[in-house]
Amino acid sequence: PEQPGALRIERLEVTYGRAVRALRGVGLTVAAGSVVALLGANGAGKSTLLRALSGTLRLHHGAITGGTARYDGRALNGTDPVAALRAGIVQVPEGRRVFAGMTVAENLRAGSLGRRDRGTAGIRAARERVHGLFPMLAERSGQRAGLLSGGEQQMLAIGRALMGAPRLLLLDEPSLGLAPMMVERIAGVVREINAQGTSVLLVEQNAAMALELADHAYVLDIGEVRLHGPAAELARTDEVSRLYLGDS
Ligand code: ATP
Repeated sequence: PEQPGALRIERLEVTYGRAVRALRGVGLTVAAGSVVALLGANGAGKSTLLRALSGTLRLHHGAITGGTARYDGRALNGTDPVAALRAGIVQVPEGRRVFAGMTVAENLRAGSLGRRDRGTAGIRAARERVHGLFPMLAERSGQRAGLLSGGEQQMLAIGRALMGAPRLLLLDEPSLGLAPMMVERIAGVVREINAQGTSVLLVEQNAAMALELADHAYVLDIGEVRLHGPAAELARTDEVSRLYLGDS
């Protein structure tokens, strides 16, 4: 029997164009309520995996060409972002990509557009949750997003994703390019979001941060899972500490 709210990926293959096999039979599970970290070198396939789950592969001329991804018992086809949102999955894209010319409030509103319950109490509740996590976004509601700092834009990108009321949040390198203090704040926010009941799949170059946050972790290598296990155990393996934690 399927565990409610679990993400279960089996033998997943993703191909770009005709020939680039970016995922070559990946298996991965995110238990309901958990934080899972996805590590690996550039080009390993981490972003590809997130795109398959958020239904955004077609934007990159990619498709699922084998295997299955199921969330809460529902099959995901890799190319339908609205279906993914309605299944409860929302991605924060790499590089933040907030709408720079729009205000903070407009960016947040954009995050709720795919919801069935537009204009209702559910959306007000989501906005209150976002303002609770990031009081700065309430204070700067009317300001253009392009004027925010990098860390603030990352907060807005996360806030916008939360407006879709995800049960599983996909984060693509939230710490990229941020100062250490801001990385700490983002880590704290991820912890809080998870404590509020949202599962998290976290792609990170900052392996130390990711392994500290995660219950479980996977290392991808050229489209395949090379290692996986409880995050604390993985952090102790020679391979992970040498390659990803900078220990010698
Ligand atoms: P990064 O940290 O650099 O984003 P990643 O682990 O997220 O790395 P992906 O971006 O998923 O890796 O890329 C996996 C493989 O798929 C790489 O070989 C990459 O060159 C290739 N790839 C990614 N996007 C496309 C695309 N739109 N068309 C063709 N190949 C692509």
